[in-house]
Amino acid sequence: FLAAHPDIVQIEAFLTDACGVQRGKILRPSELEGAYRNGRPLPCSILSLDTNGADVEGTGLLWEEGDSDRPCMPVPGTITLSPWRKTPTAQVILTSYEPDGSPSLADPRHALARVVGALNEKGYFPTVAVELEFYLLDASAAAENRAQPPKAANGFRPDQLQAYLMQELSDFAPFLDDVYAGAEAMGLPAKTLISEYSPAQLEIVLEHRTDPMRAADDAILYKRLVKGMAEKHGMVASFMAKPHADFSGSGMHLHVSLADETGTNLFAGEEPEKNALLMASIAGLEATMAEAMAIFAPNANSYRRFKPNSYAPVGPAWAVDNRTVPIRVTSGPPKTRHLEHRVCGADANPYVALAAVLAGMLEGIDNGLTPSVPITGNGYEQIAPSLPRHWPEALRRARASTVLPARLGERFTDIFLTIRETECDRFFAEVSDRDYAWYLRLA
Ligand code: GLU
Ligand code: MG
Ligand code: MG
Repeated sequence: FLAAHPDIVQIEAFLTDACGVQRGKILRPSELEGAYRNGRPLPCSILSLDTNGADVEGTGLLWEEGDSDRPCMPVPGTITLSPWRKTPTAQVILTSYEPDGSPSLADPRHALARVVGALNEKGYFPTVAVELEFYLLDASAAAENRAQPPKAANGFRPDQLQAYLMQELSDFAPFLDDVYAGAEAMGLPAKTLISEYSPAQLEIVLEHRTDPMRAADDAILYKRLVKGMAEKHGMVASFMAKPHADFSGSGMHLHVSLADETGTNLFAGEEPEKNALLMASIAGLEATMAEAMAIFAPNANSYRRFKPNSYAPVGPAWAVDNRTVPIRVTSGPPKTRHLEHRVCGADANPYVALAAVLAGMLEGIDNGLTPSVPITGNGYEQIAPSLPRHWPEALRRARASTVLPARLGERFTDIFLTIRETECDRFFAEVSDRDYAWYLRLA
């Protein structure tokens, strides 16, 4: 890689923590070869932080071992350019190991690898594509923690509350041209681009990958590209699930099918309902949806997305070619048939979210589960809103889950939930402006 890009002066080497935040180091090019050989040491406590970087106790990763180092290995094939940087820069994804060479169970990549491995052992090979929605925001407002559309969006215009608006794509053309060029330079399979329902809300769809880990890596690299290019254009790109109370949230839709070892799509066939593997996969996703919500919707803000008629789901259900349910089976040529899992917020950790989705499918397959009757028409009028509506409830359901520890690993699930529970307690411990506005004078 360096031989092909002799101008590179630095390499950003990072891993993605439980909260979905990248943490790592900048390496000089001369350090890269050694990193591939021996890994780069990073303190184990960096995998025991909440989103804001505050230490979380109870993960066994903090002082218990004197905050010892873990060798972090660059993942082969993940080195790319960082095309938004002025200084010629590359980036590489790291993954963390224990000193004895076994996978570090706090690293979300290993949780995904575990579930994919279990599927592969049974002869199932997932094909995955990721869709991520995001908002562009005004940078100076964002610096003050306010969400406001950028100037290029020409302000909040009610007539912008519409999807697939070509005008909006023109408004942001300079930014989008850079995103496309960057994706090309990085080898990221950006497929299509649309403007979503709300002002300055966009979505880029990535091409499917036959390696699910690669699809999750793509999602991380793509978020970094979009954020980096937005910054270059004087804006902020946010994958927060619901930045504007009155506009739609941002989701991360996961498109999944299962193939056999020859690559033949096992979900294909004349009628979806006659495909036993597809039915069992859907049933498993329905059965585990509530307990996995803490993964699909990992923050307090994530729960604001789930509203009637929001295109974000409120209860487990499925249907063919229907966007009012959490599991949409695609219509179109049977050969390309797959399911679109529509629950995750754009703020979810792609590795963990995909691990939970594949775990749900496997659960359905292993236990021969039967799905609900498919919905026809508007799902919001027919589905009981039975998914956890708030963060603490979702965390309680996840703690009671036997599926998550069994499929994602006991240690990983415990670390993940301990971090999320601690952040949740911290979130609700704060006295907010809303407390004062509602209760200061009237209580
Ligand atoms: N923005 C919606 C969500 O929060 C999804 C809209 C769509 O169907 O693309 O999930
Ligand atoms: Mg969308
Ligand atoms: Mg979609």
